[in-house]
Amino acid sequence: MGKVIAVFNQKGGVGKTTTNVNLSACIAQEGKRVCVIDIDPQGNTTSGFGIDKKQLEYSIYDVLINDLPIEETIMHTDYENLDIVPSSAQLAGAEIELTTIQKRELRLKESINRIRDNYDYIFIDCPPSLGLLTINSLAAVDSVLIPIQCEYYALEGVSQLMNTIQLIKKSLNKDLEIQGVVLSMFDGRTNLSIQVVDEVKNYFKGKVYATIIPRNVRLAEAPSFGQPIIYYDNKSKGAEAYTDLAVEFLDLEEDVI
Ligand code: ADP
Ligand code: MG
Repeated sequence: MGKVIAVFNQKGGVGKTTTNVNLSACIAQEGKRVCVIDIDPQGNTTSGFGIDKKQLEYSIYDVLINDLPIEETIMHTDYENLDIVPSSAQLAGAEIELTTIQKRELRLKESINRIRDNYDYIFIDCPPSLGLLTINSLAAVDSVLIPIQCEYYALEGVSQLMNTIQLIKKSLNKDLEIQGVVLSMFDGRTNLSIQVVDEVKNYFKGKVYATIIPRNVRLAEAPSFGQPIIYYDNKSKGAEAYTDLAVEFLDLEEDVI
């Protein structure tokens, strides 16, 4: 049965989508069967895989609101072992529409259970908020992967993030775990970045990946070509870092088993 992981941090612009697209592509390249669910109305993960959001027949919106079986929304990407359930702009309205639906917090979980056996890993790209879409994601997953940007306010909002995880554990998902913390947008030329790494490691003892994602312009360019970094520029620092992160991630998973 596949493991389900939410890439979560309620702060925007910390590298959630970049990590989701690139880590999942690298894990798929390592031979694991991966599905990415884009539950962010912005749909940046969807376009990051080269899928045109305007041409979609169905999206995760139809699963959450119109009872469409999730299998019917799965699209194969251009890359081996890598499927996606796309997002659409309609999803912005789902936060409100969901409030009138029964068991509204568990809609996603029930759908994911239908496809869990088909994959080794299912990654969910969360929106930068704590609304019902995020709650659905946190209720549905085994663990959360937390990207943190190496910048001055890195730890601001982290206590709120941890409170949210605790609340979900108490109410909807008692087994929810922290998969790991990914430090992103590291700039080795600044003392600040180095200081942030220490602070975050101190806060999340033992949970921070040794692989740190550098600030790399190729990572910022790749989405406009609709390609994960390993296909856009495999020799870039960004490609190297996400490949290393995937290997580290999988090594740690094997240690657990
Ligand atoms: P989030 O999903 O948390 O809002 P994104 O992954 O979309 O964050 O990243 C925010 C912006 O920063 C995007 O424009 C993205 O291309 C850019 N970005 C993310 N990670 C890096 C990186 N390591 N180096 C350079 N730019 C990055
Ligand atoms: Mg995003």
